[in-house]
Amino acid sequence: MKLLFFGPPGAGKGTQAKMVAEKFNIPHISTGDMLRNSVKNKTEIGLKVAEILERGDLVSDDIMNALVKETLAELDSFILDGYPRTLPQAEFLEEALKSMNKNIDKAVLIDVSEEEVVKRISSRRVCPECGKVYNIISLKPIKDNICDVDGHELVQRTDDKEEVVRDRYQVYLKNTEPVIEFYKKNNKVVTIDGAMDVPDVTKELFNILGNLSL
Ligand code: AMP
Repeated sequence: MKLLFFGPPGAGKGTQAKMVAEKFNIPHISTGDMLRNSVKNKTEIGLKVAEILERGDLVSDDIMNALVKETLAELDSFILDGYPRTLPQAEFLEEALKSMNKNIDKAVLIDVSEEEVVKRISSRRVCPECGKVYNIISLKPIKDNICDVDGHELVQRTDDKEEVVRDRYQVYLKNTEPVIEFYKKNNKVVTIDGAMDVPDVTKELFNILGNLSL
């Protein structure tokens, strides 16, 4: 199964992509996680992109395309979470897949309004060690502010601050909506109401994807 996951910042796309990846045993490729790891490990790319991520801007298409192409070449099924985010990235992806005789099966759009996103994002926390995402209202860790997986203290991502979230939403509308339109024209898009509770979104996703028989 080859899936793309779309959604504005705070839609819960990363959380849902991870659940689907586990359920269907598909590798989960999150470009946001890859970039945050590069920043954490101070790699060459990490040093280049750290400030861009903090501002909530987009990393250049060239960097993103190179990063993703290398990864996809080795995979027969995948969930791409956070890529493509611009039309040039979508065009690059389509060409790259074509040259590998591969094709996207579905693009999942988890749709949420800007106000809902702003409301919920202030309660998002993440484990700085393993990247697991929590929400202190709707997806609490077992122990307050502590990661269930490895016991590290949870933090708020710099790009989860309200001003940054609003900027990121605008960046999403301007750059990524045209990409979603592109996949809609090809009848690939499945839209899910991301304002529902996390478990309900997951249930609906499992239903839809389970019925695809890919
Ligand atoms: P995410 O976790 O998907 O929200 O990504 C976090 C940040 O990483 C974004 O705000 C961008 O700065 C950067 N990023 C992730 N994926 C891409 C992409 N496909 N193109 C450009 N920037 C990206």
